Amino acid sequence: MDTTDTSHADRHRSIAFIGLGIMGGPMAANLVRAGHRVTGHNRSRAAVDRLVSVGGHGAGSIAEAVKDADVVITMLPALSEVTEVVLGEAGVLAHARPGMLLIDMSTVSPHTAITLAEAGRERGVRVLDAPVSGGETGAVEAVLSIMAGGSAADFEEASPLFHALGTTVVHVGPHGAGQTVKAANQLIVAANIQALAEAVVFLEKAGADLAAALTVLGGGLAGSTVLSRKQGAMVSRDFAPGFRIDLHHKDLGIVMDTARAIGAVLPVGSLVAQLLASCRANGDGGLDHSALLRGVERLSGDERID
Ligand code: NAD
Repeated sequence: MDTTDTSHADRHRSIAFIGLGIMGGPMAANLVRAGHRVTGHNRSRAAVDRLVSVGGHGAGSIAEAVKDADVVITMLPALSEVTEVVLGEAGVLAHARPGMLLIDMSTVSPHTAITLAEAGRERGVRVLDAPVSGGETGAVEAVLSIMAGGSAADFEEASPLFHALGTTVVHVGPHGAGQTVKAANQLIVAANIQALAEAVVFLEKAGADLAAALTVLGGGLAGSTVLSRKQGAMVSRDFAPGFRIDLHHKDLGIVMDTARAIGAVLPVGSLVAQLLASCRANGDGGLDHSALLRGVERLSGDERID
């Protein structure tokens, strides 16, 4: 269900935001901008200071961040961090007030989302899984695509917060459904970036005018958000993240594990998962996923690859 509901829009909430990284930092800042009281907590202090500098509040522990919160948002790298922060002895659920709403916006598996929802229910905490797409730019510009799983009532309550962070906000089903859709998103994005990387190497080796080629490709059926957003990084060979290969590798693991469990056969998905694994094995895990280009260059004997 798409929603443009703004009935709660003027209701300012007390939000604890845990995980102020590439995505969480700008997302928390956008919630401050929308008028909410946002208390941020992060493993490293510099990210908390950045939130304080734009009008947020800082907390030195999870307990301190969540003690007065109506809503807790987590935006953490992966399963181990989400498990520690939400379920750990010093974690969110250990300090949560009954009735609180926990929104996990990290990308984890559908199975993990269901586990969090069940653990929340035991503590009287309502839970939504609400992973996002749109990258760092989408987070900064508050134009993320947000796919939410959980109850319709909890989704409706969270809607004004989601609309402060993104422009495409959809309730896609029960607990775990948001993560299922996000896994599909990551499959599509990885395959697209790999195809673009192969086209770039193909065009360069053929001696084509790369800039002209990418311009005309962008206007036809080959055009895509991936092409428009990632061609710059590939042409300039600036692979600062963005979205790290390590994280996309994690996401393709979720895709392939889930596919195996449900009997879906994803030949391109399994190949791209291996190509991401190769980039990591060659030391590129900390680079943006546009560095899949380096993997294609490596396979093609490009001298620029050290
Ligand atoms: P990131 O590594 O930049 O940010 C994660 C933050 O969590 C860091 O600041 C880290 O210090 C903090 N953290 C880790 N463990 C912690 C703990 N125990 N307690 C408190 N803070 C802790 O990652 P990111 O790129 O912002 O991604 C966050 C999530 O969003 C991931 O699941 C990722 O897959 C997903 N995602 C990322 C992008 C993107 O383009 N970067 C896009 C969509 C979704």
